[in-house]
Amino acid sequence: MSEILEMLIRRGFLWQSFEIYGGMAGFIDYGPLGNGLRRRLENLWREFFVVNERAVEIDTPTVGIEEVYIASGHATSFTDVAIECKKCGKVYRADHYIKEVLGLEVDESVEAIRDILSEFDLKCDCGGEFGEPAQFNLMFETRIGPGKGKRGYLRPETAQGIFIAFKRLADYFRDKLPFGVAQIGRSYRNEISPRQGVIRLREFNQAELEYFINPRNKRHPEFDRYRNVKVKLVDKSDAEYEIALGDAVEKGIILHEVIAYFIAKTREFLLKAGIDENRLRFRQHKDDERAHYASDCWDAEVYTAYGWIEVVGIADRGCYDLSRHAKFSGEDMSIFVPFKEPVKVKKKVIIPNMSKLGPIFRHKAKKVAEALKSMEAEESIVVEVDGEKIEVPPECYTIEEVEEIQHGEKIVPHVIEPSFGLDRITYAILEHSFDTDIVDGEERKVLRLKRWIAPVQVAVLPLLSRDPFTEKAKEITELLKKRGIFTEYDDSGSIGRRYRRYDEIGTPFCITVDHQTFDDNSVTIRDRDTTSQVRIGLGELVDVLLELLNSEKDIREFGEVFRD
Ligand code: AMP
Repeated sequence: MSEILEMLIRRGFLWQSFEIYGGMAGFIDYGPLGNGLRRRLENLWREFFVVNERAVEIDTPTVGIEEVYIASGHATSFTDVAIECKKCGKVYRADHYIKEVLGLEVDESVEAIRDILSEFDLKCDCGGEFGEPAQFNLMFETRIGPGKGKRGYLRPETAQGIFIAFKRLADYFRDKLPFGVAQIGRSYRNEISPRQGVIRLREFNQAELEYFINPRNKRHPEFDRYRNVKVKLVDKSDAEYEIALGDAVEKGIILHEVIAYFIAKTREFLLKAGIDENRLRFRQHKDDERAHYASDCWDAEVYTAYGWIEVVGIADRGCYDLSRHAKFSGEDMSIFVPFKEPVKVKKKVIIPNMSKLGPIFRHKAKKVAEALKSMEAEESIVVEVDGEKIEVPPECYTIEEVEEIQHGEKIVPHVIEPSFGLDRITYAILEHSFDTDIVDGEERKVLRLKRWIAPVQVAVLPLLSRDPFTEKAKEITELLKKRGIFTEYDDSGSIGRRYRRYDEIGTPFCITVDHQTFDDNSVTIRDRDTTSQVRIGLGELVDVLLELLNSEKDIREFGEVFRD
């Protein structure tokens, strides 16, 4: 890991934030290359989960008002248990420290932690005793406006911005389910003592899709595409095996097709982004690990120097979020779903008896009658008129059974949420792409990034750093940039050293302007992975590069190899 981190910092992928002031755990800066890579990853995600789905992307504030997080439950339950050393004052996240020191998985409750501390007489690294364990809310709190202002929170996930805009979004989709709404952006969690470098951040990047479905139909029309795709699963009983997704649904291992569909799509995306298939698995949450409202949840986990880490969570959150916001805001979060054929239903209706209502309720009688007509027959009839609850005596109405034609029903959609942590995926791609081999008898460091994700896709190198080589190389650089290819020009150092630099930062192709360029208007293309080179006429250079960059084709298909 240290070798990779050293390279990532030295080459400008990422580094510790606030470095000159001593740094702060949980924050990283993305340098030019890391930023480029993560942006490419975002675009790939967009292609998979927005453009090629019935989905749209929105952008909502990263600061949220308190009401949102009271309704979502974060204000009360988004907590971890912290323990503080009485001697040195160091604070730990209790479950992580217990796992690290004792190798035990514990319940994240204050009581369970307290029991473990006393049972094992657990001490701090410095030998000091711990004080009382306490719940710590992970949201960053802030004040909106001057003075006392209004309490707000930095969002701990992007999802809530989508749920609270649900009515507008449903309207946009003309109330037709299923539909997806995505958001890519920053989230904030005030993690307790994050010690896992780039894996556990206090400010990080999420890409979330909230896919709203009719709860009566948890099939996915496109699932057939993936039915036979085999994936590595670790189910909730900890059994690990490979299974076709269709079989996993049929056997009830994965709750339904929509979750299985997103597992398949997530796998396809991660592989395309450059995650190694042998270091990828999907792990199901155990019953006591899952959020209480989730009916099934799977994490995509990738193996890294930090062990298996969760990079994506895929959960069926039911109607929890929409129902909570409906309850707390008073807004109706349901959708009217028409039936295929209208159905006849028997219904009990209330027929008000005005001759009885009049003398009892006088000027309110009309309003009471209206309220009665609009409600369903129940045991005791209580109506609300002008904010007052009124119990209506039985002689004031009759109940009749009528047949009614219904054209549809109101439902609160369920939501399936694939939630991606882009920083973790970026790091895992870098680690999985990192390789060394021997070239010309020397060890070479090479980052085997996928061509479409590489921050610098093509480097244009004049063989010698003087005219006319430099002038021609700059001209080619401009040409490639104009065609949307991420291109860098570099004339510093020997050509061999420049090739090594671009190998190390994962640039798939180097173009070299050499003496022959001025004889026959051609350049060389060098392939990072094989180091082979072919000669290409300048007239076809852009087309050849575009084809290479969007595929995994071998450069040998485009010209005769003159150097292997
Ligand atoms: P969660 O809402 O906890 O399921 O998180 C969704 C995804 O966000 C996870 O799969 C992670 O990839 C990512 N994530 C969560 N917490 C952090 C963090 N502290 N630092 C970096 N990524 C995170």
